Amino acid sequence: MARTTTPNRPKVPERAAGTDGAPQSRRYPRIIGGTCEFCGVIDANQPAKLQYRLCPHFADMGPLACSYCDKALDPTDVIANKFVNVADHPENPDKVVVWCSNGPGNPGSKCEEKHLKRFSPSM
Ligand SMILES: [Zn+2]
Ligand SMILES: [Zn+2]
Repeated sequence: MARTTTPNRPKVPERAAGTDGAPQSRRYPRIIGGTCEFCGVIDANQPAKLQYRLCPHFADMGPLACSYCDKALDPTDVIANKFVNVADHPENPDKVVVWCSNGPGNPGSKCEEKHLKRFSPSM
């Protein structure tokens, strides 16, 4: 006598539609030289490489570090000298993925290459 399993339990789609209008995982503004490209300089008394820590996009995340850089590199230096991309992790809503890139005029960032290989084509 098999009992049917809880028929009234609601199903949840793996990907909720239209939560913020973006079908793909959410992207944040880029951080350029440590400054959020959307918010710009927030406190002129703080160094440029720390400006992103003050803006509403990244304030809750704490200090960011590129997921792919050599561990020997100081993450703060990387953020100060590169473009830094941030997106929600496609498989873990509690996390963001961070990767540095050299920008459109200077392609070939190893980190961006690694990132695209890891997540393509979902991001
Ligand atoms: Zn911002
Ligand atoms: Zn990197």
